[in-house]
Amino acid sequence: MTAKPILWIVIPCYNEQEVLPITAPQFLQKVQDLAAAGLVSGKSRICFVNDGSRDATWQLICQFARQDEHYIGISQSRNRGHQAAVLAGLMEARDNGADVTISIDCDGQDDINAMDEMVRKYLAGAEVVYGVRSRRDTDTFFKRFTAEGFYHLMNLLGADIVFNHADYRLISSRVLDSFASYHEVNIFLRGMVPLVGFASDTVSYERHERLAGESHYPLSKMLALAFDGITSLSNKPIRLITGIGMLFSILSFIGVVWAVIGALMGSTVAGWASTVCIVCLMGGIQLVCLGVIGEYIGKIYMETKARPRYIISERTWAPYERKYHG
Ligand code: UDP
Ligand code: MG
Repeated sequence: MTAKPILWIVIPCYNEQEVLPITAPQFLQKVQDLAAAGLVSGKSRICFVNDGSRDATWQLICQFARQDEHYIGISQSRNRGHQAAVLAGLMEARDNGADVTISIDCDGQDDINAMDEMVRKYLAGAEVVYGVRSRRDTDTFFKRFTAEGFYHLMNLLGADIVFNHADYRLISSRVLDSFASYHEVNIFLRGMVPLVGFASDTVSYERHERLAGESHYPLSKMLALAFDGITSLSNKPIRLITGIGMLFSILSFIGVVWAVIGALMGSTVAGWASTVCIVCLMGGIQLVCLGVIGEYIGKIYMETKARPRYIISERTWAPYERKYHG
């Protein structure tokens, strides 16, 4: 490789005014170290994506951008969630001449020193390098249990994701070019990136505690992410439902035969309790099945609308301008 690759570090930020002043200089130092080591170009950038924060996050980002040219920022028109923020940053990087991107959270939980190895693996030929957590000691037992359960469940239900890998990863712009033609609006990057293919590698790192501020991912959001991930990547749940439906049809057929024989032999009793139980059970199962199918229909509904996946309202280097066509 002749010219050194231009690296863009993409960092989603949502209400992070406490932690940004701590981690932003660390990212800057890292980019400068990587450039000094001759691994990346001096034109590399740290791109903050403000995800519609309600606090002073965007003002901070603008301030950083004035201080050092390595810092730049884009702002989403409103809060659209972590996945959309990362996607916006990645596409921005690709459109502005980045050769390679690394997405990472802004809270200092992911070890930035893993970036050296990621870039080395990229230079050695990998187009995607997944950051994989080696240990989860700093997470609470509950977080660890739910998070690891999440990966197992996802794989079981047909979403092929890398175990213990969140959204800390290196992606080359070659992969991003192909990724840009994935137009789905239900985005689950962890599951989509492996689908694009290309040579990939992993780098393991230790996950730390958040340096400041609070997590925006309570259990309810994690469950929503898991459900979205499964239903946007796999049809297995629908198959499972069909299977359950068939099983219960067979069971009820046997039940009917048994009831008819019982009636013919005159040994039936007034089985109010059992009737109610069966009605409830069947009603419950049917509702769950309808719910899952409804979830898929909802996804189709959103896809057919094909709304934009992110809207950038401001940039630190070029303010939003209204474009007139025609
Ligand atoms: N984040 C975001 N939009 C949101 C929620 C979170 O851009 O709606 C960002 C947040 O600023 C952080 C990253 O996503 O950089 C991960 O969030 P967090 O640290 O709260 O989640 P956790 O690490 O606890 O799972
Ligand atoms: Mg975090």
